[in-house]
Amino acid sequence: MADVRVDGISKYFGDFGAVKEVSTVFEEGTVTVLLGPSGCGKTTLMRMIVGLETPTTGSVMIGDTDVTRVPTNKRQIGMVFQYPVIYRGTTVARNLELPLVAAKMDSAARKKRIDEMAEIIGLTDVLETNVDRLDNAGRQKVAVAREVARQPEVLLFDEPITNVDLTSKLELKRSLKQLFTELRQTIIYVTHDQTEAMSLADKIALMNTGRIVQLDAPRVVYDRPDDVFAGWFLGSPGMNFLRTGFVVEGSSLHSPLLASPIPVGAEAQHATTMGIRPEQLTASLDEQPDHVRAEIVDKAITIGGRMLLGVKVQDLEIKAVVEHDIGKNASSSIWIKLPQENLHLFDAHDRKIEAGLQSVG
Ligand code: ATP
Repeated sequence: MADVRVDGISKYFGDFGAVKEVSTVFEEGTVTVLLGPSGCGKTTLMRMIVGLETPTTGSVMIGDTDVTRVPTNKRQIGMVFQYPVIYRGTTVARNLELPLVAAKMDSAARKKRIDEMAEIIGLTDVLETNVDRLDNAGRQKVAVAREVARQPEVLLFDEPITNVDLTSKLELKRSLKQLFTELRQTIIYVTHDQTEAMSLADKIALMNTGRIVQLDAPRVVYDRPDDVFAGWFLGSPGMNFLRTGFVVEGSSLHSPLLASPIPVGAEAQHATTMGIRPEQLTASLDEQPDHVRAEIVDKAITIGGRMLLGVKVQDLEIKAVVEHDIGKNASSSIWIKLPQENLHLFDAHDRKIEAGLQSVG
């Protein structure tokens, strides 16, 4: 097991930068999920780490070894793709065994390793089954177990759940979680699906237009986005952003959305955007201290049975995700509070203001 370091790595196709000057460490024994919208450069970055693409600039280190010019098959990396790569026409056990035979492992050790893998990922009952008889999720489990069993230094997963049918997705995700938790290998996992990222990642490396914009634990990326893009991309719906309707005067933030001004640090003077997640504001049917009255302009049911409301204070419209009972019983208006600890301020470059709201007691 080893960490992976990329230093100043870029990939240009002609004039177009698919990955631009990325420098980061994917820590040993950690699952780092590369998350971002289609076309942001996730696959290109992963292909450079695995050696399927030559960087235009920069280097890749696995542990202490510079592998930038080392061919893929010499990199000690295992790779799982969208479509399962397996040996057809033979059993699950044989699929897991062949790479171990190639690695010259003796037969007792092979059997032990295969049984362990099968147990963790849930293939024990089908070890003697021909892989052709498995569904897509089963085959993908075989592909994963095969790569993991040979214990490479690093494992890369490129959207391994994307092409599995909906009913099997959850089960495969559960198996991967189990595997990742038990093995604690160095894993880099590419997906565009934020739910998958939130549930599988120790760390999320959020990408946008060829750059990693934030690398943190999932909860940190969600609760403390470094920029407007991170606030927008994570969450469903993403963060509310207000470009108008607030003002910083001295050490106070004023807004019609706030019952009273909130104390802020000096840096808040540079705020051009205020943000709050729809599910992180407080709502009540009755008048409450520190709440303001908001007109309801829209109502919809969200996943999980909560209600998504469009609410308006003066001319400021935001989204609020509230408990179903509150949403259902609210008629024309509701009382809302934007708790200070859930408010975010961003500057003119859309970057978070460090000495903004969260740092004020
Ligand atoms: P997706 O999830 O859609 O695969 P991604 O984040 O993995 O997206 P990449 O596949 O890395 O993105 O692609 C990043 C950008 O680089 C895209 O605009 C893509 O069209 C471009 N690109 C990738 N490979 C090549 C290539 N060989 N030649 C030209 N452009 C390329």
